[in-house]
Amino acid sequence: MGAIGPQSFYFAQNKTVTDSQTNGITLYLFERFDNKKPYSFHSECELAAPPYINQQLDANKNPHDVCIFPLRLKIGIPITFDETELEHNIILKQKIARKLTDKQLSELEKKNNSTPEKKKTGKQVSAYKRDQFVIEYALRRAKDNCQLCLERGPFKKKDGSYFLEVHHIIWLSKGGTDTWDNVVALCPNCHRKIHILIDIKDINKLTIKAKQKLSNN
Ligand SMILES: [Zn+2]
Ligand SMILES: [Zn+2]
Repeated sequence: MGAIGPQSFYFAQNKTVTDSQTNGITLYLFERFDNKKPYSFHSECELAAPPYINQQLDANKNPHDVCIFPLRLKIGIPITFDETELEHNIILKQKIARKLTDKQLSELEKKNNSTPEKKKTGKQVSAYKRDQFVIEYALRRAKDNCQLCLERGPFKKKDGSYFLEVHHIIWLSKGGTDTWDNVVALCPNCHRKIHILIDIKDINKLTIKAKQKLSNN
């Protein structure tokens, strides 16, 4: 904390975080998707390892010492989301995702999935928390066509693309990951079919499609 000049573990809020294991303070992680938007509550967290100093560029582009606090989320604690705010964040992330080039999208998706937090909470991804980059990746890769029946999506959306649903081959509820290689884009009929019949031939077909990278198409 502190945008300019050296930071110290013993100053103000940094001290509070440094001592958080002994001072009885509860840490909460907030995230903000846009500088003008308010912070939204993410989760209760705790220090995962001792804080350390790292050199980074400050707001004036001068190298300065930065206090790094390795945090981990306290899993299992009920999170009360303001759904309107969350919905807003999802729409915002969707808009950002749509504007990215294929290369940027692939890189962001990869980066997002290599963060330890993601792996740890991977099984708990709910309908609300599904990664918009993964969804955008799957839709873009499908190029408007259902990846099972190969027909075009049933109707055109306002943005000009055809409606398809993103399906997780190994369901999130069964421990599947919210990553590009576990998702495909399906028309609503095929989506129902795959969930009701759970046909191994269809699953195998889709698994091959899910392994194709965006740039390979
Ligand atoms: Zn279909
Ligand atoms: Zn599905």
